[in-house]
Amino acid sequence: MKLFAFSLREYDEKKYLEQICSELNIEYGYTSEYPSMDNLHLAKGYDTISIITNPINQEMLDTLKEYGIKAVSTRTIGYDHIDIEYAKQIGIKVCYAPYSPNSVANYTIMMILMACRKIDFIMKKSALLDFTLKGNCGRELSLCTVGVIGTGRIGETLIKHLSGFGCKILAYDIYEKESVKEYAEYVSLDKIYSDSDIITLHVPGLPENKHMICAETIEKMKDGVILINAARGMLIDTPALVAGLNSGKIGFAALDTIENEAGLYYLSFQDKVLPNTDFHLLSGMPNVMLSPHMAFYTEEAVSDMVTNSVKGSLSAMKGEDSPFIVC
Ligand code: NAD
Repeated sequence: MKLFAFSLREYDEKKYLEQICSELNIEYGYTSEYPSMDNLHLAKGYDTISIITNPINQEMLDTLKEYGIKAVSTRTIGYDHIDIEYAKQIGIKVCYAPYSPNSVANYTIMMILMACRKIDFIMKKSALLDFTLKGNCGRELSLCTVGVIGTGRIGETLIKHLSGFGCKILAYDIYEKESVKEYAEYVSLDKIYSDSDIITLHVPGLPENKHMICAETIEKMKDGVILINAARGMLIDTPALVAGLNSGKIGFAALDTIENEAGLYYLSFQDKVLPNTDFHLLSGMPNVMLSPHMAFYTEEAVSDMVTNSVKGSLSAMKGEDSPFIVC
């Protein structure tokens, strides 16, 4: 099998790609460039491509099909950036790469604690040698009610880890899990909104979940609620979020992901004008903390992402079943 990797980072991913390709006897090529209509031709002569979170639309899938590509494998858990239905329709397999949920679950707890203790604001003040207490007073996580929306791999891990803080945990998912009930109480979505001091999102960026946090749902939340998003930017309607932050309805938002972040995160804009108005708006707000889609980023996760992406492609090529094949 011959695999071509787009957006490959030489400083962390390449060593894992080399390792797994040599183990499985796979020939590979790569570029650090993101896939686009201008460079898809690099994949000519290969059997599969490996990508990260850049959109793969119908036009790109048609071109890949023309080049004889049989599988597109994303080195990420989320695969909403690939037009799955169209890939299925034209017979291109899609694979994804699950990795340890600890990475995002740990990061979410960090964001929750940072938000509760206003640490971003405090560090900025301290950098200006302002060590006064005024405005720094935080909230104790242990006394908060945390609402977790989505109790899949990450949500469940988060709930288990959060339970050590002694906070009350409410959970919502379309599928309830017995293993979660030991640590959290499943309630309706409306009760999550009305009773939670902190709400954290762990559902996928599927079309039906687009803007699940909107003006109507924000209205149902407690005044001063802390909103955490380490899932997908499209889950939150940005103008409604900004309105909620402006009015104080939302006390604080910690966002590892924002709407329309493609073409922004993982790139450098030094000396350039940043082409994203939402980012400018949110980054200028004192009650917002942004991180550039980093929650997954640990050594263990990078190794799993590359390795599982290659394993999925190989299984797809051989027509074997694999937990890494989406369709
Ligand atoms: P998962 O598939 O294991 O869990 C998702 C859960 O959401 C499932 O239990 C599903 O039933 C539930 N769900 C889907 N739609 C729902 C809805 N409308 N209401 C309630 N529940 C709903 O996925 P996971 O591994 O736990 O990952 C969750 C999401 O986290 C991913 O899809 C991805 O978008 C995001 N993620 C972000 C990062 C990051 O670096 N920030 C990294 C990995 C994953």
